[in-house]
Amino acid sequence: MAEDKAQLVVVGGGPGGYAAAFLAADLGMDVALVDPAENPGGVCLYRGCIPSKALLHVAKVIHEAKHAADQGVTFGAPKIDLDKMRAFKDDVVGKLTGGLGQLTKQRKVRHLRGRARFADANQLIVDGADGETTLRFEHAILASGSRPTRLPGFPDSPRVLDSTTALELEDVPKCLLVVGGGYIGLELGSVYAALGSKVTVVEMLDGLLPGADRDLVRPLAARLKKDLDEILLKTKVVSVKEQKNGLKVTFEGENVDKPERVFDRVLVAVGRKPNSENLGLETTRVVVNDQGFVEVDAQLRTAEPSIFAIGDVVGQPMLAHKASHEGRTAVEAIAGHKVAFEPAAIPAVVFTDPEVAWCGLTETEAKQQERAVEIARFPWAASGRAMTLGRTDGVTKLVLEPKTARVLGVGITGPGAGELIAEGVLAVEMAAVASDLKLTIHPHPTLSETVMESAEVFFGQSTHVYRPKRGS
Ligand code: NAD
Repeated sequence: MAEDKAQLVVVGGGPGGYAAAFLAADLGMDVALVDPAENPGGVCLYRGCIPSKALLHVAKVIHEAKHAADQGVTFGAPKIDLDKMRAFKDDVVGKLTGGLGQLTKQRKVRHLRGRARFADANQLIVDGADGETTLRFEHAILASGSRPTRLPGFPDSPRVLDSTTALELEDVPKCLLVVGGGYIGLELGSVYAALGSKVTVVEMLDGLLPGADRDLVRPLAARLKKDLDEILLKTKVVSVKEQKNGLKVTFEGENVDKPERVFDRVLVAVGRKPNSENLGLETTRVVVNDQGFVEVDAQLRTAEPSIFAIGDVVGQPMLAHKASHEGRTAVEAIAGHKVAFEPAAIPAVVFTDPEVAWCGLTETEAKQQERAVEIARFPWAASGRAMTLGRTDGVTKLVLEPKTARVLGVGITGPGAGELIAEGVLAVEMAAVASDLKLTIHPHPTLSETVMESAEVFFGQSTHVYRPKRGS
């Protein structure tokens, strides 16, 4: 068996793994990155965030063209060239992953194509196209990510899609059932609806996007009610059977008037599972918990001192930006810096239309923790910029500590919320108080003013909302 060695080996080339490998190289370490793909990128670039955002952009263009009629411009019905759309998406992915390949070479990170498994606390076996290589390391960072959860009893059929196959955009089904009203279900459900599918979403809980505050979800739910064929809440799929004309689905739930229906395709988007199996972790002291997550401390170190773990494989939230930051923290810890991964806020963004974004403490979490908070809410109906976009359905809210007015959390729904939330993250991280946001001059006319004006609402002094503070 071939032999090799590296000071640091990173297992997995997603946004957690490659960010870690690149920083380690920048700090002067000798780094190997193991991943089966031609270039780094992982799920995020190849079959997640990036391709889905390319398609969501297309969906947004279709929507805006349709709604431009309200503003005096009428376009004809869109003509969908699926091959071209797929080529656009694949081109974006190709350019980005190709760029990462170049950055890997420039930094002299050695990319070993293959799958790695641990042989002990300082050795990995890499199974590549040319056979197996033993790779000795001083430190390893496990960044093996996650995969879509499968539901038992669903047939093994090309008509049953997961996020990966749904992004391949084989065709536009006439009617599509989306199981799961979370991030993926709503993002990809929106894409297919914009392309012309009749989309039904079935969610077992009593609301869409269970992790988000209800007032943030409301504008999205209202929009989806118009764009989708149906949203079935508190509903379960009890069986899916393949038949000649499609997939026969049986529902069970309070609001189900037709318990059996046939769909051309079913997209399963009910969460993701950590990739912690078949990695030889049993040959080390690494601890994997009951849910399959690898246990780590605040420096991302596992119970095996030479092995660190980051990203989806160590726990929620399964978000690329969390993984990258964890990766960089792990590398700094390995380099001996005094660091810990202790973010005050990790932003979450659902890239639907409108977008839903939040960070820090949510109002729902405050209630669950019986923590007193004050909420300051600015409706976008009072925003000039929102009005010019024909999008007054948004809302910006602050979750504040009552006595100090410290910003504990921020929530935004509306087009561009995913960009706007960055200011909220900075506010929470910098321990800003409401007057910091109020006194920061925001450019007019922009949607960013809604963050400033929600702070003004807190003081009962919003220029565009007449709501004097009680008792003042
Ligand atoms: P999710 O956790 O966001 O949503 C899954 C939904 O499915 C939940 O609402 C859950 O109640 C529901 N559900 C579970 N079992 C069900 C069942 N049997 N029948 C009906 N509904 C059921 O998971 P996801 O949408 O699969 O996405 C996985 C993860 O990927 C997300 O949690 C997120 O971390 C990440 N992701 C992020 C983004 C983004 O940042 N924009 C986009 C896509 C995915």
